[in-house]
Amino acid sequence: MTDESGTVDSLAAEIRAADTVVAFTGAGVSTASGIPDFRGEGGLWNRYDMEDFHVRRFRADPAGFWTDRLDLAEELYADAGPNAAHDALARLERTGHLDAVVTQNVDGLHRAAGSEEVVELHGNGSRVVCVDCGERSDAEAVRERVRGGERPPTCDCGGLLKPDVVLFGEQLPEAAMLRARSLAREADVFLAVGSSLSVEPAAGLPRTAATRGGTLAIVNLDRTALSERAEYDLRADVTDVLPPVAKRVVG
Ligand SMILES: [Zn+2]
Repeated sequence: MTDESGTVDSLAAEIRAADTVVAFTGAGVSTASGIPDFRGEGGLWNRYDMEDFHVRRFRADPAGFWTDRLDLAEELYADAGPNAAHDALARLERTGHLDAVVTQNVDGLHRAAGSEEVVELHGNGSRVVCVDCGERSDAEAVRERVRGGERPPTCDCGGLLKPDVVLFGEQLPEAAMLRARSLAREADVFLAVGSSLSVEPAAGLPRTAATRGGTLAIVNLDRTALSERAEYDLRADVTDVLPPVAKRVVG
């Protein structure tokens, strides 16, 4: 216990002293809000067929895609709100101690918690995007139209609406990836939370930060692919670690 609080103190001191601090968040931050994980045992992809959510399927059968998407969305977004880890990151940003959150999560909870500099590597399922004109709008309103029988839902311009997330078979958005890489290169402290850091290309970000001399701090329940390279490797629930860290940074 003494050890652990010493670690939190020392990490907090590094964050306070750093010019650039970047957080990178994965599924562990969402599961703490009760959102089921996609991968692993009991993960959504054990219960849903990945092929149904492939971009090929969206193009070939958008009506069927949206019917299946409704079921998935109901599990993903029902009643989920930000948790103490989202709040702690938002508080660090608000007080000038965190430059950006780079996230693999698509639930939009960082923004809901008040984080403003959020780089969404896999998009955001609380929005939809028109595949023709690119206009983005609120997903829940569109899901309501789908429930009412509009399948597939379309934009005012006539284009198909697609969840604003990276589907299987799609590339990560280039602008977001470039911004994330640039943040990783600048980071004095790179805080990787709730991710096993095993899925590329995102896993390259903490490696980049460490290679460029940034302090790598990892908070995850299990050992990660980069645990050996980390100055801080905290095997714990993100909601147990981030609030005390933020508290010590902000004072
Ligand atoms: Zn449109």
